[in-house]
Amino acid sequence: MGRVFNFSAGPSMLPEFVLQRAAEEMLDYRGTGMSVMEMSHRSKLYLGIYEATVQRMRDVMGIPNNYKVLFLQGGATLQFASIPMHLMGRTGKADYAVTGSFAKKAMQEAKKYGEVNIACDSKPYAAIPAQSELTLDPNASYFHYCGNNTIFGTLWPYLPQTGDVPLVCDLSSSILSQPIDVSKYGVIYAGAQKNMGPAGLTVVIVRDDLLDGASEIVPSVMNWRGMADNDSMLNTPPSYGIYLLGLVLEWIETMGGLPAMETHNKKKAAVLYDAMDACDFYTPVADKGSRSLMNVTFRCPNEDLDKLFVKQAAEKDMLTLAGHRSAGGVRASIYNAMPMAGVETLAEFMGEFAKANG
Ligand SMILES: *Cc1c(COP(=O)(O)O)cnc(C)c1O
Repeated sequence: MGRVFNFSAGPSMLPEFVLQRAAEEMLDYRGTGMSVMEMSHRSKLYLGIYEATVQRMRDVMGIPNNYKVLFLQGGATLQFASIPMHLMGRTGKADYAVTGSFAKKAMQEAKKYGEVNIACDSKPYAAIPAQSELTLDPNASYFHYCGNNTIFGTLWPYLPQTGDVPLVCDLSSSILSQPIDVSKYGVIYAGAQKNMGPAGLTVVIVRDDLLDGASEIVPSVMNWRGMADNDSMLNTPPSYGIYLLGLVLEWIETMGGLPAMETHNKKKAAVLYDAMDACDFYTPVADKGSRSLMNVTFRCPNEDLDKLFVKQAAEKDMLTLAGHRSAGGVRASIYNAMPMAGVETLAEFMGEFAKANG
């Protein structure tokens, strides 16, 4: 069987460039006689891979020198706890924008460490509230939001303005999908398994002045300062995931960097949104002004048709299209690695399915 179009929300498709290179180098990495998976993380050879990957991340994202790039474990979910552990102590309270399931989980975790102000709660999560609708506390330690809501398919269409309160952003499902101005953020974090590589690696980008807030009882492997001072190697890092992230970044560079990614992603998303808007059959989950470029969500006229859609699409090698169990409907995740052919095939099927069942 050949490659399918995999619309999974994560872990998700990786570029063939990356998988092929990894396969070529699997048994014998560049004449060393071993796989990257088998290398000591303290070896000169591996440190070269690690350093090149950090540098590529800096180059591709344009990360300023006063930010550290950490390669950690525990997923975005461990950062839900780590963020208040490091930052809540500044004033004892923090602002949380609740715009979806992960944003809510992050908020609930933070409550264990201090006072949480709900800056907004946009339930049922079809839209991102406007700046004027945010209730901001000028004494908040930080403002936390989820840049792209993976489950409902909404994207923050603007950068929240919070004055001197640092922005902390979960970019798990949209990092590397378009250029961003890193200097506007205090902390950016993301699990790798959507747009950066395999599960097991978490990237955390922290401004230098925010590294030091953890108390003594915070586990060493969670401590941003300790990890920054030890090249993310207080313990064994997710070494193979870091190597694959390096290949993903190399692929992005050859494609023209983040500006080219954005252009490509906008074109891909437009193909699906146009197919959705072209008939009354499909009901969008996300409002027009808040639509994600990465997760396209919609509903058929009833749940039986949602199921039939997913089943018939799978028969045509378009896989993992069922919406998240909490949102229902259909979700097509179209991260960087999803080729244009994938969304074109899906759009064509959407038209056929609406005709046959409308
Ligand atoms: C997938 C996802 C998470 C959870 O990530 P883990 O790595 O599984 O902890 C958190 N936030 C967002 C926005 C996600 O898409």
